[in-house]
Amino acid sequence: MKAIVWQGTNKVGVETVPDPTLLLPTDAIIKITSTAICGSDLHLLDGVIPSMEKGDILGHEFMGEVVEVGRDVKKLKPGDRVVVPFNIACGVCDPCRRGLFSACDNSNPNHRMAEALYGGVSGGGLFGYSHMYGGYAGGQAQYVRVPFADIGPHKIESDLRDEQVLFLTDIFPTGYQAAENCGIVPGRDVVAVFGAGPVGQFAARSAQMLGAAHVIVVDRVPERLAMAEAAGCQVINYEQDDVLVALREATGGRGPDHVIDAVGMEAHGHGPGALVDTAKQRLKLSFDRITALRWALLSCAKGGTVSLPGVYGGLIDKVPMGAAFAKGLTFKMGQTHTQRHIAPLLSRIEAGEIDPSFVVTHRASLDEAPALYKTFRDKHDGCIKVVLNPWA
Ligand SMILES: [Zn+2]
Ligand SMILES: [Zn+2]
Repeated sequence: MKAIVWQGTNKVGVETVPDPTLLLPTDAIIKITSTAICGSDLHLLDGVIPSMEKGDILGHEFMGEVVEVGRDVKKLKPGDRVVVPFNIACGVCDPCRRGLFSACDNSNPNHRMAEALYGGVSGGGLFGYSHMYGGYAGGQAQYVRVPFADIGPHKIESDLRDEQVLFLTDIFPTGYQAAENCGIVPGRDVVAVFGAGPVGQFAARSAQMLGAAHVIVVDRVPERLAMAEAAGCQVINYEQDDVLVALREATGGRGPDHVIDAVGMEAHGHGPGALVDTAKQRLKLSFDRITALRWALLSCAKGGTVSLPGVYGGLIDKVPMGAAFAKGLTFKMGQTHTQRHIAPLLSRIEAGEIDPSFVVTHRASLDEAPALYKTFRDKHDGCIKVVLNPWA
């Protein structure tokens, strides 16, 4: 089959690789009909996430048709149309039973790699996201093996188009969980979202669905700001305005009640702090560049929530913890427990509350994907979200 593979830092290519096969009785094989490139794939592209190997198949946002199931799979059968969460979960361990699917104890066979880095604990496995997270082949391919097939995949039985349900695999639940983590008081609270990429767009719309009185989106890319503005958000371009001043002005001086950092560890941004972050990241002294996180802590109102859906990978410094402490902020963060959100968010799509296909700007074949990785990374051509058809 054809697949997009990691060929080294800043190099992805299309290769012909063996088709996946069932390895365990709880596996399913999915023929992929649509798959997307995610902002977090860019952290793999540029080598910031360790433990990638040449030939690894990328991709964790995909959906398709079940073509084969192992003998212990009860809920799926060939022909079913499914969306598949980006994180892999067993469904029976203690974290899974508590709904903390991304913290599954049993789905990451390489947990020792993550444990060495993260103080003896590891998250669950992820599709197409390095050996530290299990080394599972991803879904930017024509077929994929899905472990624990009774737990993750969710059947789509309505006639919604792929683009309307594909983002249930990651970015819609990720944006939603970030907004839900804020504990928004409907009709009162102002929410600021840093980063108007795909997750930021869904976080902003989710904050609206959860009743935020006002949503402000901060970025520097005009077409991304325009997409947020089209949803009724106020926008701030941090290259034109002083973010902290603008946020205070927009909130009667108190700052946004909750702040969502949908940027994560490769923030751009201004000033000596940003330059030091970049230098340290290049020298591998620090994983993360944290301009957005600093702004989040400095701008948030007293008693507010700082919600982090953006990915952080390692150690960070120059975090204004004094400001966070003085204001009594609450931090909420972590990988999305996707499995928990798919059914309720699918209901919202079916009810017409949101049509997630608004975010798609580019559609392409697998052969065009390597070029589109660069277009997406460089934010050229108005690129916000790329959807690939593996059979085009
Ligand atoms: Zn993703
Ligand atoms: Zn589990």
